[in-house]
Amino acid sequence: MIEIKNLEKSFGNLEVLKGVNLKVVKGEVLVIMGPSGSGKSTLLRCIAGLEEYQKGIIALEEKNIYDYSRKTLVQKIGFVFQQHNLFPHLKIIDNISLGLIRTKKMKKDEAYEIALNVLEKVHLKDKAYNFPSQLSGGQQQRAGIARALAMDPEIILFDEPTSSLDPSLVYEVKETMVELSNSGKTMLVVTHEVDFAKKAGDRIIFMKDGKILENMDPDTFFKTELKYEIA
Ligand code: ADP
Ligand code: MG
Repeated sequence: MIEIKNLEKSFGNLEVLKGVNLKVVKGEVLVIMGPSGSGKSTLLRCIAGLEEYQKGIIALEEKNIYDYSRKTLVQKIGFVFQQHNLFPHLKIIDNISLGLIRTKKMKKDEAYEIALNVLEKVHLKDKAYNFPSQLSGGQQQRAGIARALAMDPEIILFDEPTSSLDPSLVYEVKETMVELSNSGKTMLVVTHEVDFAKKAGDRIIFMKDGKILENMDPDTFFKTELKYEIA
């Protein structure tokens, strides 16, 4: 599904990714851990085609991501951010429908049907006609996940989806993600949540200083966990 070879990325003089190699197969849930500043977000942004890089190749289904149009990449790769980025002036259902109407050129009725369908998957159908400000932080984040799901991407990237949440709201978002991980979607998840990694992860990579230091199954990783500071 994704193959990254020798990826190098700098911001000016700052080398952020120093030769990253990674393969992700279809349906896999890859958890990315590592200290702040190690390049996790940058790696996800490169995969989503949001950053240019200096060296190496990122291939999606054996084709260089540079050879996809922006529009195609947006449909193939969903992104859930730390902050949900919902438009405050749009109802949840319209937030979710927007991409379908704009990018997939759907009619409003059709987009609404899909929006309600994905809202049901994240247990938020009853909030469809509310505005983001009327939802709790956890619900807003689940709406963000629903918005990514609505486009039916092949891959969903999550960048610390629970780290801006009040601790009491983390659980519901994690559970939603665990459910999603059982649905066969390919997921790359940057998180410090060890229990999510254990429950849902097929594989864990540990990054530090722009390099992947470990790449293994969760059981093995957490047996050696004490070697690293995860957060
Ligand atoms: P992580 O997500 O692991 O915390 P990031 O990928 O966000 O790490 O950042 C890695 C390094 O790149 C950090 O030193 C950060 O300050 C730097 N960095 C990230 N984005 C930019 C940018 N747009 N311009 C300059 N430096 C950046
Ligand atoms: Mg980050």
